[in-house]
This record gives sequence, structure tokens and C-alpha cells, in this order.
Amino acid sequence: MYFPPLLQAQKRPVLPRLDHSRPKRYDTLMPRILVIGGGIIGVASAYFLGKAGFEVHLLEREITLGALTTAASLQAVRAQFADPVNIAFMKESLSFYETFAQQLDLPDHDIGFHQQGYLFVTTDEAIAARQRDRVAFQHAHGLEDVEYLEGEALHRRFPYLAGEALAATFRQRDGWISAHEALLGFRQAARRHNVRFHLQTEALSLIVRGGRVVGVRTPAGDWEADAVVLAAGPFTAQLARTADVELPLQPVRRHRVVIGEHDAIPHWAPMTIDEDTGAHWRPEGPGAALAWAEPEAPSPPQRHVSPDPNFTFRVMEGVYRLCPFWLEVAETLKRDNVFLHAGQYTVSPDHNPLIGPVPDRPGLWVISGFSGHGVMAAPASARLLADLLAGRVPEDDNPYAVDRPGLEAAEGEKMVL
Ligand SMILES: Cc1cc2nc3c(=O)[nH]c(=O)nc-3n(C[C@H](O)[C@H](O)[C@H](O)COP(=O)(O)OP(=O)(O)OC[C@H]3O[C@@H](n4cnc5c(N)ncnc54)[C@H](O)[C@@H]3O)c2cc1C
Repeated sequence: MYFPPLLQAQKRPVLPRLDHSRPKRYDTLMPRILVIGGGIIGVASAYFLGKAGFEVHLLEREITLGALTTAASLQAVRAQFADPVNIAFMKESLSFYETFAQQLDLPDHDIGFHQQGYLFVTTDEAIAARQRDRVAFQHAHGLEDVEYLEGEALHRRFPYLAGEALAATFRQRDGWISAHEALLGFRQAARRHNVRFHLQTEALSLIVRGGRVVGVRTPAGDWEADAVVLAAGPFTAQLARTADVELPLQPVRRHRVVIGEHDAIPHWAPMTIDEDTGAHWRPEGPGAALAWAEPEAPSPPQRHVSPDPNFTFRVMEGVYRLCPFWLEVAETLKRDNVFLHAGQYTVSPDHNPLIGPVPDRPGLWVISGFSGHGVMAAPASARLLADLLAGRVPEDDNPYAVDRPGLEAAEGEKMVL
């Protein structure tokens, strides 16, 4: 196994004695890291940390991995962002997903990457003008393959759009994956780096000694660690509070509707977003998946999020505006062909994640707050976390630092769904 020189030289810090008689300490000189949470972010992090040479244990409360927010996701991935940092970051993630099997040396592992594109459509002159400027900006920042389309050219290419559609931006290499298959791939590759996954193991609280986080309390005993990484999705802020840390993260409910097989849906279509309202849909096998981030107040973190049954009608009306075939789908829809789910975005003030050490709480790290972009951001975020922990990226070069300027001022990403 390759160990970066920095890690080879590193000595284990002297830690206070803890009762960890049940989970045994392994005979290693590598720093031990506990990752809390087995969603796509925690599992991808465990992989990159294991690959970097750390001794990694992932604790997941549920009986299986990926059952919370990751399971509720629309699984869509795109590099079309407005902030240059996010453009670069998502480009890295999408390149990783494009070559997932090779990256992880898992021949034949298929994450179902459908590169059918992302289409942001508008009926509004002012938004069309902004789209044109945005595409020029994206081209100037390394995303040369975004197209600006209008009028005839737009309707010829995407004939299912309503006549009112004025302009759009399109990038073919965006699309969607199976987040579940990606998570399983990361898990398999992580195991090769001796990462250990502990299911049905809830982190009850963080253990703080002398101002430092030194471990985690679980129902089965205390776990000692050199660093604890919070990747607990909507539960991240709640766990941080057990170490007297306030993270600016809030869970907000979001819905997803999946429609089973229906002939009226163009299955070749890209993810299609009404940029005037935010309502969006994409093909899903012989059917489709729909979502719409309606304004909703933050709520406490939940293991089971109850959906609003009326969301299905609202979102279908929402996507119908620019894609009239949805009227036919709605009129012929059978009840047993509609699947409504809800999960919680973990939202930060600027809609960008928090990745890195928590200020004034040595030993505590966080990777959360993806604000609806965690599936697409997972590879690059987890790589960044591992690089920071291994000292391969200086903290000053971390654009997603927990104490970054502008975070609270919400001067963040504009292309949020
Ligand atoms: C409706 C909807 C649609 C979305 N669509 C997209 C999309 O198209 N593209 C995209 O990129 N993102 C999308 N997202 C966002 C994406 O799903 C999340 O950003 C991503 O799944 C976050 O992953 P995570 O691992 O951080 O969190 P989670 O998947 O929530 O994982 C956290 C894990 O931590 C565990 N945990 C919590 N507390 C504890 C504890 N105390 N001890 C042990 N384990 C604990 C949980 O059980 C869970 O397994 C969507 C989200 C929703 C809700």
C-alpha cells in the first residue's frame, strides 16, 4: 500500500485513556479516523481516507448504508454551475464518475451514468440574457461544452418543449447516475484499503477532553480516534452540538416523485429544468423522476421524512408549463404508478458544503451541507477531505473551509435547485 511521506513520518498523538474495550484498537501507527455516517459522502470519504493510508472506521446507525438522504436523491449530476470554484469541483466529480470503474479498479462496475444532459429552459427575456452571459462566463472558466440555444434551434433539438420556451443552456455530459451503485463501488474499493464498516452503530455524542475531540460514544462503548469526521447528513449539526460546536447547517425537506412506465415521456430527453420556477424532471428508465424545491422552513433532522401527498399534483403542474406532454401523463396516470418520497437537504447559508477541520475544536472534521448537491459533489469533496487530513492541500487553499469568508453573508452559488 502507498503511504504518503507525511503520514509515514507522523507519530500518533498522545491521547487520553478511554474505555474502548469493545471496539479494539488495531495495531497500527497510522492515525485512526472515525467517519460518522454511511451515506454517499461518508462512504466516499472513507474510501479516499483509506486510500491515503489512514486507519478508517465508518459508523452507520442504520442496518444498511445509504438509506437516508442519498436514497431520496434524484441522483442527477452536472457541471453547469455559476461559481468558478463549483464548476471546477463538479468537473472533477463528473470526470471521476465517467471513469468510475477504472478509478476504483472495479472492472464491470456500472454506476448507470446516463449522460443525456441538463437543459435549463426559460420563457423570460431577462433570464435568457443572463443565460447568455452565464454561458460565456462558464466558457471562460473551463466549461467550454455548454451551449446556449434559442428560438428554432432550441425547438428543433427539443421538440417536446412548449412554444413559449425562449432560450436554454445545455450540456450533454451532465446527466444522472445510480447513487446506490456509486456508494457500493466506493464501499468495495474502501474495503480493499482496510476500511471497516460498522452498521447499526450510532454515534450518540462526541467525546471532548481538554478542548479536543478524542472519540465518539456509542451504545456499544467509546471509540477513540485521532480525528472524527462528521458525515451524518441532516444529523451533522446535532452531533456537532454534543461538542458545543454550532455549525451553520439546517435540514430542509425536499420531495421527489417517480412515475413508472409511460409512453408519453420522451426517454431520450435530458434533465429539463424550468429556470423561471425551478420545477424539473428527467427520464428514469421507462418513466420519469420529478422534483421542485419549494420554499419550506427548516425542520429538525429526521430518520423518516413524511412527504406531503399533494406535492405530486403541484410538481406535475409545475413541469407541465414548459413540457405539455405532462398533461397527458397526468390525465392517464394510475395511482400505483406514482412513487412519492421525501428527504432533507442539509443546507448551508451559501449553498456550498462545509469541508475540513472545525475551528477551535481540534480533532473534529466535517463534510456536510451539500444543499442538494451531495451526490454530484461526492468524489471531489471526499478527495479534498482526504487531502486536507493528509496535509496534501493546505487549509488556506480550501474553498469550502468551515470558517470561510462570505459563508454567513450567503454570497454563494446561484444555480441551486
Ligand atoms: C429529494 C432530494 C433530491 C435530491 N437530488 C439530488 C440530485 O439530483 N443530485 C445531487 O447531487 N444531490 C441531490 N440531493 C442531495 C443529496 O441526496 C445529498 O446531498 C446527499 O445524499 C448527502 O449525502 P450524505 O452522505 O451527506 O447524507 P445522508 O445520505 O443523509 O447520509 C448520512 C448518514 O449518516 C447516518 N447517521 C446520521 N446520524 C448518525 C449517527 N448519530 N450515528 C451514525 N450514523 C448516523 C444516517 O443514517 C445516514 O446514513 C437530493 C436530496 C433530496 C432530499
